Amino acid sequence: MNHETDAVKIYFFPFVGGGHQIPMVDTARVFAKHGATSTIITTPSNALQFQNSITRDQKSNHPITIQILTTPENTEVTDTDMSAGPMIDTSILLEPLKQFLVQHRPDGIVVDMFHRWAGDIIDELKIPRIVFNGNGCFPRCVIENTRKHVVLENLSSDSEPFIVPGLPDIIEMTRSQTPIFMRNPSQFSDRIKQLEENSLGTLINSFYDLEPAYADYVRNKLGKKAWLVGPVSLCNRSVEDKKERGKQPTIDEQSCLNWLNSKKPNSVLYISFGSVARVPMKQLKEIAYGLEASDQSFIWVVGKILNSSKNEEDWVLDKFERRMKEMDKGLIFRGWAPQLLILEHEAVGGFMTHCGWNSTLEGVCAGVPMATWPLSAEQFINEKLITDVLRIGVQVGSREWGSWDEERKELVGREKVELAVKKLMAESEDTEEMRRRVKSIFENAKRAVEEGGSSYDDIHALIQCKTSLDC
Ligand code: UDP
Repeated sequence: MNHETDAVKIYFFPFVGGGHQIPMVDTARVFAKHGATSTIITTPSNALQFQNSITRDQKSNHPITIQILTTPENTEVTDTDMSAGPMIDTSILLEPLKQFLVQHRPDGIVVDMFHRWAGDIIDELKIPRIVFNGNGCFPRCVIENTRKHVVLENLSSDSEPFIVPGLPDIIEMTRSQTPIFMRNPSQFSDRIKQLEENSLGTLINSFYDLEPAYADYVRNKLGKKAWLVGPVSLCNRSVEDKKERGKQPTIDEQSCLNWLNSKKPNSVLYISFGSVARVPMKQLKEIAYGLEASDQSFIWVVGKILNSSKNEEDWVLDKFERRMKEMDKGLIFRGWAPQLLILEHEAVGGFMTHCGWNSTLEGVCAGVPMATWPLSAEQFINEKLITDVLRIGVQVGSREWGSWDEERKELVGREKVELAVKKLMAESEDTEEMRRRVKSIFENAKRAVEEGGSSYDDIHALIQCKTSLDC
């Protein structure tokens, strides 16, 4: 305990990539709102991304601060524009982190799993440590049970289906959908596993009613403590917080909202593949043609593009963008969009997503059905949760796992894009069913974070531990 204030003192050490940093910053803010003295440990350039929302929280008297780690040579961790991939090495922060922890001991620290070097020094200092791994209970169960019971090399081909044994639902996967670390364990994945195994447990950005059987499974069968504290994105209540989440949007959010205001409810599709993925130009072209053929109004966030020249990008995207604007059909963000603001607008009726865990939850919390297009990480597993377990989405037809910066052998063709968009956005009984289901899950999400809700209670269980977080 922090005896000066009698409030538990927790440090949060987020990774530098958007899909991990954004929810961990939200988590620290949620804990501060609940009375824990929260400190976000970060680098100078990363601090700039969320400084404004922390300042707003401080003005509301939430006990939250940012601790900036500076390296001796003042060298920054590279690639800190929210698009950092998991392999980025942050170990340059080891010494400054150690110094800080020695001088300012917390009751506990939440560490992102991609800081795979951090476990040893924290354990050396005997500080209770919890891991944040950025995804939910369902993917965790699928990964663990596949690892335990399926010999992936024994499958006859990448496309041979197998059922993941021992789960509450029938989940069918293929080898081509499994993340690389399940097929070829490496030092990288071993370190992450160790970080988890030696921790007190995991802080999970999810809520019990989203995946009750899997939350129970993690707690009872995998034998790890797990605190489900989400959806943490719901802590963003003001327009400013929603707008400035992650990065400043590439285009003025007001003109985007004005455009959405001119559209009918549920008539616009929002498309985004998250913060990390680099999609090649030829795949973007298929999306563009498919969208145009579907005659669907849309907002499309085109993030980083893989292996393409500026000329080609301008030629294809500019022409498409201009045509869509003239027809009042679509907006394209080249860079960063205020995802929460867009998703929650009543004109948005569907979300084409790469099934990143945050996007999945944010889609749920906007009450919109999804068209699923997984690319890498555990996204193919999240797709199964969306389409097979929760039944709130349709698959576009992505079949091949690839690293976030890798070109796939096969493109997802424009016909598949068109079909999925039409299926998702049609005024049909199927879509209405999906919409009803997702809205009811959203109601459960809101209840989970309110007083007496499951996430609220898990947060309190953690911060009310009397002597340390080890309870
Ligand atoms: N995001 C955003 N604007 C963008 C792209 C991404 O606000 O233009 C946010 C999105 O809301 C989510 C996070 O970045 O919170 C992406 O996390 P996710 O787990 O969905 O995917 P990842 O980026 O890790 O692949």
